[in-house]
Order: sequence, then C-alpha cells, then structure tokens
Amino acid sequence: MPKPLFQPLLVNGPEGDPVVHVDFLQTRRALLFDLGNIRALPPRKVLRISDVLVSHTHMDHFTDFAWLLRLLLVRDIDLRLFGPPGFIRHVECHLAAFEWNLAHKYEEDVRLTVTELHSDERGRRAEFRFRHRFARENEQTLDLPGNVLLDDGRITITAALLDHQGLPSMGWSVQERAHVNIWKNRLAELGLGTGPWLSRLRQAVLEGRPDDEIIVAEWQADGRAVRRELRLGELRRDVLRVSAGQKIAYVVDCGFTRENRARIASLLEGARTAFVESAFLHEDIDRATERGHLTARQAGWLARDAGVEQLVPVHFSPRYGERLGQLEVEAREAFRDHDGSGLVSPRQ
Ligand SMILES: [Zn+2]
Repeated sequence: MPKPLFQPLLVNGPEGDPVVHVDFLQTRRALLFDLGNIRALPPRKVLRISDVLVSHTHMDHFTDFAWLLRLLLVRDIDLRLFGPPGFIRHVECHLAAFEWNLAHKYEEDVRLTVTELHSDERGRRAEFRFRHRFARENEQTLDLPGNVLLDDGRITITAALLDHQGLPSMGWSVQERAHVNIWKNRLAELGLGTGPWLSRLRQAVLEGRPDDEIIVAEWQADGRAVRRELRLGELRRDVLRVSAGQKIAYVVDCGFTRENRARIASLLEGARTAFVESAFLHEDIDRATERGHLTARQAGWLARDAGVEQLVPVHFSPRYGERLGQLEVEAREAFRDHDGSGLVSPRQ
C-alpha cells in the first residue's frame, strides 16, 4: 500500500459531531470536513486549515463556525468554505450575529471565500472580509464542470449533491494531483545542490510541463552562487519519482436512494480512505430511511462496491448506548465480505 499523503483525524470519534481534520503531509496545510463541534482541535491544527467542506447546515455539522472565526481573528488569513445551496446566506447570518465596528482599524485581514453548489455544475461564490466588516461582496455565479469546486494544481475538490430527506447534503471527495518525490542522493551524485529551484521543479512536474522545458537550478556552494540549466525530461528520469495522488472521501447524512447511491459511488470510487456515515443498525432501516440516513450495512456495501481501501464508519446515532460497537461490526461485515480487509476503527 502506498505511503499515505493525507493524515485524517476523526476529531470527535464515531459518536460525536462528525468532523474530520485532514493534514496534508507535504505542505503546512489542512482541510476540514464539516464544522460541528471542533473544540477538541488544538489551535495550531485549526490555523493550518485552508478549506472547509460542509455537508449541510444542521447544527451538528455547522455549529462551530463562530469558534473557528474566533481562532482566526486577528490574523492575516485566507479561508475557503464550500457548502450546499443557500450556504452563502448561512455564513452571512453567522457573521451578522456580531458587531464589527472596529474591524477597519486592524492591519490584519481575514478573507473568507464562500462557494455553494446550487445544482449540478452550477454554483455561486461570494467573499466576506474582516476589514470590510464581513459585508457580502464580489458575488458571482459559476459554471462548475464535473462539480469540481476547487482545482489548485495540488488538490481537486469534487462535490455530489445528495438528498437528506428533502434537504440537499453534500458528499465530498478530495483527490491529490500527484506526489513528487525528489531523491536527494541522486541530486548529489549529479553534482546538483538544493534550493528553491526544487519547488519550481516539483510545480513544473505537477503542471505536466513538456520534457524539453528548461529548468534553471540555482544554489549556493562554498559561499558562491551556482547556476545550471537542465531539461525537465532529464530531471524527471534521474532524480524524481512521481506517484499517483490519493483520494479521500466523506459522505454523511443521506438516504440510500438510487440517485444517492450512484452519486456516492463515483465519489468513493478508488478512494484510499472513505468516511461514511453508519448512523443506524440495519434492523432499524425503516427509521434510517424515514430520516434520510444510511445504515452501517449500507455504508459497508457502498464502500465495498466502490473499491475503497479503508472505510471509517462515522456519525453513529447515540440511541444505541451500549450497543454502539455493533454499528462498527455491521459496517465491517458488509465491507469485508468483499476482500476481508481495510476497515479502520473510528476509535483509533
Ligand atoms: Zn448529522
């Protein structure tokens, strides 16, 4: 199994508000799935968050927006938030709960970019800046082919509009473009030093630049600057190893309808790790259906059929009390009758 590139943390375990914090191991950056109770996250982990992906705005998924904002103020920070239809208004209402009369006196600015998916491949975006007292601005409608909400050259965020008993709920997948390893010993063998040129090299590879592109290598040796020009193709062959990016998916609060199943299947397909709600035992399927939730067995089936490597069952209903462990067992059994491995305990 390839080395993990993402490090996910199920913040409140399987029973609390479903929140997953994902650290990207190559950069000082993190992403958050859902924004229920995040008080257990240390501030240093919160400050790394660049993107927040919210499934829907029931309280257990969006209650700590204000807490997050409190930790970001007063710093110079950009944060992107993504959510379901109506999400811009929900963010705006949260912001409107506070007075911002002194905001313009600060040098630092917290810039929020909020994107909502309206319907398939159509969305809307607006910005809110601390220094502008978080007034809604720069609103625009967007074409979003493939429901891709962000592609920044490193990660691609894809959403699926799911049905949660009449309420739109978003499922998410995050795909890392590719993983570029640079062999430092090979660099040394070729007489090349290290420096900022290596990040330009990595970027050129991620952007799929052609082999005959010239990369300028510059570094310091014995106190003097050294400069060499190399072809990207040579470097690709001699000092790099490129591996396919990995995918992580998050699906909560949706029913097991035909339409949802098809959408979830493409989100989960080939994911290394998938967090899937396992709210009810299958014996309570009527209640699950009535409330628009998945049972643990359905979660296991969905992950199994999509070829997920690791399933983490989440969002257990507290109604089971001492029987909570059965949800995990049921998800595991449905998942394992495929190839017998890969269920990760949400309690780790
Ligand atoms: Zn929920």
